[in-house]
Amino acid sequence: MRDVVVIGGGLSGLAACHELERCAAAYTVIEVKGRFGGGIHSRSEAGFVMDACAFAFRPLADQALLADLGLCERVIPIGAEACAFAGGTESLIDALADRLRGGRLMRMAVSSVGRLGNRFTICLENGIMLDAGAVILALPAPYAGRALWNLAPDAAEQLAQFRYDSILRVSLGYHKRDLPACQDRVPDATFPFILSTDQPGRVPDSDHLLIHVGLRHAGDLSADDAIRAATRHFGWRASPLVARVDYWLEADLLSEYGAAHHQCVCAIRDALPDGLSLIGSDYCREATEICGVARLDERIQMGRRAAREALAYLKAKKK
Ligand SMILES: Cc1cc2nc3c(=O)[nH]c(=O)nc-3n(C[C@H](O)[C@H](O)[C@H](O)COP(=O)(O)OP(=O)(O)OC[C@H]3O[C@@H](n4cnc5c(N)ncnc54)[C@H](O)[C@@H]3O)c2cc1C
Repeated sequence: MRDVVVIGGGLSGLAACHELERCAAAYTVIEVKGRFGGGIHSRSEAGFVMDACAFAFRPLADQALLADLGLCERVIPIGAEACAFAGGTESLIDALADRLRGGRLMRMAVSSVGRLGNRFTICLENGIMLDAGAVILALPAPYAGRALWNLAPDAAEQLAQFRYDSILRVSLGYHKRDLPACQDRVPDATFPFILSTDQPGRVPDSDHLLIHVGLRHAGDLSADDAIRAATRHFGWRASPLVARVDYWLEADLLSEYGAAHHQCVCAIRDALPDGLSLIGSDYCREATEICGVARLDERIQMGRRAAREALAYLKAKKK
């Protein structure tokens, strides 16, 4: 019998699974795609390792986790206040996934979560139904809202109201000699961040530079147009050696991460039954101070806390 079902195998869901694993709990993770990581994946091309997701992040507070995952040596500095993984952010996902021994249902979409007696029911789109003592819903708001429509309609309604400001991430690899010697790289409203690295592991050698640029856009923008807009804006006339564009449709919440958002998240959580928790980037409290720098640590801590709370709930129920 499953104690806990984790729905969603992005970073937040995997962090929850990792903690459940550490506590020797019986759990199953359900992920709609054929791979874990959600938006996080890294691609290598011509010696450049590009992230289709969060690239630079604030140093993880939990050094023990990095050590446990064997990743300490793979963290490289990006400027003064951020770091990245030498093999790309997907290294973190791979390391977490490698340690999971619990059940995993891949390519299975959860359509709804319900309640039968004192257990939760989880309905999959293919008609299969599972049950669990506790549920961790690690999904962005639109998907979480759909899954909760029957069980917690008030929370579902509020989740459906979340609106996003989409962002494009343009990754460009250059030989340094092809870039202007003096670069004026000031972020603005359209290009909210620009981050680069020439660290080993991310570029072919120290003569090369990998640049990640954020581009806010209204409506559709093709990948070629996004690359043209970024290179023109920053005055990079030479063609990049590699270039890719990733679309982060559900980027910054328009409600911002201020007090109003926090209150909204608290109200949603209050409307959920005990034993069911909601985690993920949409429910984080803090805004990032450095634009383009991820809050991976917050998502990891949220996942681990949810796992401990689920186990405490199950323990209290048994008494
Ligand atoms: C291009 C891009 C750039 C980004 N840049 C930044 C950045 O600069 N800073 C930053 O902080 N963050 C950034 N992010 C976001 C960051 O990568 C994620 O917020 C982070 O990975 C946390 O993920 P999560 O687990 O909370 O959610 P997700 O990664 O969205 O995970 C949710 C998981 O649930 C699965 N799922 C969805 N519906 C169902 C269902 N019905 N049944 C089962 N499974 C389901 C999804 O497939 C996914 O694997 C970026 C993301 C992208 C795509």
